[in-house]
Amino acid sequence: MLDLFDLPALPRLPVAGRAETFPVGRVFCVGRNYAAHAAEMGNEVDREAPFYFTKSAFSVVSSGQTVPYPPGTSDYHHEVEFVVAIGTPAFRVDRDAAADAIFGYGCGLDMTRRDLQAAAKAARRPWDLGKDVEGSAVLGPLTSAAAFGPVGPQAIRLTVDGEVRQTGRLSDMIHDVGAIVSDLSRFYRLRPGDVIMTGTPAGVGPVQPGDVLEGSIEGLSPVTLTIGPAA
Ligand code: MN
Repeated sequence: MLDLFDLPALPRLPVAGRAETFPVGRVFCVGRNYAAHAAEMGNEVDREAPFYFTKSAFSVVSSGQTVPYPPGTSDYHHEVEFVVAIGTPAFRVDRDAAADAIFGYGCGLDMTRRDLQAAAKAARRPWDLGKDVEGSAVLGPLTSAAAFGPVGPQAIRLTVDGEVRQTGRLSDMIHDVGAIVSDLSRFYRLRPGDVIMTGTPAGVGPVQPGDVLEGSIEGLSPVTLTIGPAA
């Protein structure tokens, strides 16, 4: 059978030291995972359980791209995040088994139409228009979990045109990587290709056309994004 039309190919991420790429399937995102960011957004923190939203894999772009300033917003924000890439299936796993399911890590940007997210929050509506924005899941190259080593006090930061806007440490995460993968696996049969963006530290803010963003985490390849003219 022939298809009526073609869809874009799934995104693929380079992996440090490997010839093979990592195909991206689903993109899960954790909300409010750094206390200082929750506070700057005027939110309380739920330490009992993380919460999630998703982005389509069609929203993924790789590092180094120029993405147009998106439609429907006048407050497009940067969020730098630690990205967990799943390499083996995980369903209802505990923390130890969760660690075994992780292929590696990367730097990502969870770009956000903040004005639309805020309007959705106020109206108790879903966040999709604010979060599942075309070109908004910016994912850098991956590093294997073995090569990265334990997740701890590594610094995470974001610069815009070389000026530091966001800083934190991975150890500042309210729900750590094992807790997130274990919890998410209660709701989804996690599988290779799934990626989890684990939340952003404080300092989020707006970007403008022409801005060059760089997200970096100690021990990982950085992720870069240039904001193009409005579409
Ligand atoms: Mn985020």
